[in-house]
Amino acid sequence: MKLSDIFREKGEELYGGDTQKNLSRFVEAHRQSYDSALQEIRAGRKQSHWMWYIFPQLRGLGHSQNADFYGISGQAEAQMFLNHYILGEHLREITGAMLALEGRSAQEILGSIDALKFRSSMTLFDVVCPNDVFRQALRKYYDDKPDERTLAMLGLEMRKWSGTDVVGGGIVGAIIGDIVGSRFEFCNCRSTRFDLFSSASRFTDDTVMTLAVADWLLNGGALESVMTDWGEEYPNAGYGGMFYGWLFGGREKAPYNSFGNGSGMRVSPCGYFARSLDEALDLAKQSAEVTHNHPEGIKGAQAIAAAIFLARQHTPKEEIRDYIEQTFGYDLHRTCDEIRPTYLFDETCQGSCPEAIIAFLESSDYESAIRLAVSLGGDSDTIACMTGGIAAACYGMPAWIVEEAMSFLPDMMKLLIRRFDAACAAR
Ligand SMILES: [Mg+2]
Repeated sequence: MKLSDIFREKGEELYGGDTQKNLSRFVEAHRQSYDSALQEIRAGRKQSHWMWYIFPQLRGLGHSQNADFYGISGQAEAQMFLNHYILGEHLREITGAMLALEGRSAQEILGSIDALKFRSSMTLFDVVCPNDVFRQALRKYYDDKPDERTLAMLGLEMRKWSGTDVVGGGIVGAIIGDIVGSRFEFCNCRSTRFDLFSSASRFTDDTVMTLAVADWLLNGGALESVMTDWGEEYPNAGYGGMFYGWLFGGREKAPYNSFGNGSGMRVSPCGYFARSLDEALDLAKQSAEVTHNHPEGIKGAQAIAAAIFLARQHTPKEEIRDYIEQTFGYDLHRTCDEIRPTYLFDETCQGSCPEAIIAFLESSDYESAIRLAVSLGGDSDTIACMTGGIAAACYGMPAWIVEEAMSFLPDMMKLLIRRFDAACAAR
């Protein structure tokens, strides 16, 4: 079978038999006019007619023949466009050229009708590829407001548009990371493109023990027994083997020299509760050493708590990086792209806390931090939990994400989160 026939069949499958409307319609148009389109944008003013296929929007938004022919049928086709080796590259490049212009509105660059199409196009591609250049374009030219008609046609509500309503940081930032990462722990997703929540998402041991530490800070008592109370309330949260033995092996407990990342995953309340960096380090040590009294176990907890505390103080990321590197000896001069290809499941503090901090350092907002954390693979729920705790302190969190995550939690957990937030605010 010839390649063109295979493509035609594939096209029929994907576009309901509408074989004329597959991506080849764009490729041809790009061959003819992409270069001049790019030149015009770089010069600051669109001169000729190419909007429909250079910045395509959903079919049905425009009424002309071209709008119909080059209209994108839905999220699946937009994703294919973006993944196409020519079309995706071009779209990113020319969007980047739009972003590089200074001092001109979208109307001045594109004309008022095409400025509307540009907004629809950026909205569509931000939905399939969040927090990329398309979001930057919406931010730069439209005050971060997406095209509502595009969202409505995709069945998305404005409420779900991250970046509109932001709530202040708190331990729920870590809990969200746990819930989002939960379904990827044993089935890694090495990409930032996934649904944050699904019916398979759940809270795990990271959430339960985070709340135990919050409960201990709030109400005092021996941490060992507070952790045991929470463990008995939620015995099937996915505890590691050694920790499970400690938790359910009777009330007489001794630390077992662990350097697993359990100390990092439960430490976020210490970073939020502390009034000074020293206090954050001290509380982190106390929260770790009931089980994780190995130096690496304590270090992991302290590094995450310190990052949270510093992020709360609006410390620049570079300073946070320097402090953590110098104090704990972690190598934070690596990128997620460098880590991802060879990163293996690693439950140790030293093999996952630095990676969680790097995901935060590289992020641009709360959602992108969580996505980067999951994209590394490995112990996804715990890495995303640690990253999420820091990112929430730095950026706050989109209200819709918090709302959606809360729906996974029983009332007693929600109540404790609220009480703990209030106590931190009052300190
Ligand atoms: Mg877990």
